[in-house]
Amino acid sequence: MCLDVGEVLVDETRIWSTWADVLGVPRFTLLAVLGGVIARGGDHRDAFALLGVDDWRDREPAVQRRYGGFTAADLYPDALPTLAALRAAGWRTAVVANQPASRSAELAALGVEPDVMAMSDALGVAKPDPAFYQRLLALLGHPRPVSVVYVGDRVDNDVSAAANAGLRAVWLRRGPWGLLGRDADGHADATITGLGELVTCVAALQP
Ligand SMILES: [Mg+2]
Repeated sequence: MCLDVGEVLVDETRIWSTWADVLGVPRFTLLAVLGGVIARGGDHRDAFALLGVDDWRDREPAVQRRYGGFTAADLYPDALPTLAALRAAGWRTAVVANQPASRSAELAALGVEPDVMAMSDALGVAKPDPAFYQRLLALLGHPRPVSVVYVGDRVDNDVSAAANAGLRAVWLRRGPWGLLGRDADGHADATITGLGELVTCVAALQP
């Protein structure tokens, strides 16, 4: 069982608010433009272009300094209880997602201690690249793909990409991508609105 990070374990409100503050853009403006980009199926970085910010990559170090890494308040309240419940139900757990490399240590410090944890920047490959899912399977010791469940909020990066790699996919419909997305190809094996539903829902997915 592999869980995504952004909008699955971690509420990204504060990182996006930090981006707005560093760019000198009202938070409401950045968040609303971001929602428009997501609704149009664009890349979230398109929001910077719409705001006329061409040098956002240069601002990233300032954003990360001000953000200071994940804190306990950034975790969704159901994150730690769900990891504990998955372990109690006998699942091996993994957290492998598109994030800066430093997030692994930050999550571990908050008590997120799955059996396997790795971030895309450390792996050198990111979702939705099929190679990301091959690396995930390798990190898990090459189980049958159909025995692995990926839980994510984005249809493109998480649900469809995992399904195309032969994994099971659970779509968590929270956060802007989860609420605005459409699983047009029916790739989700199950859909949930909170992690509290996960253990019950995956019990029915066992191959
Ligand atoms: Mg996510």
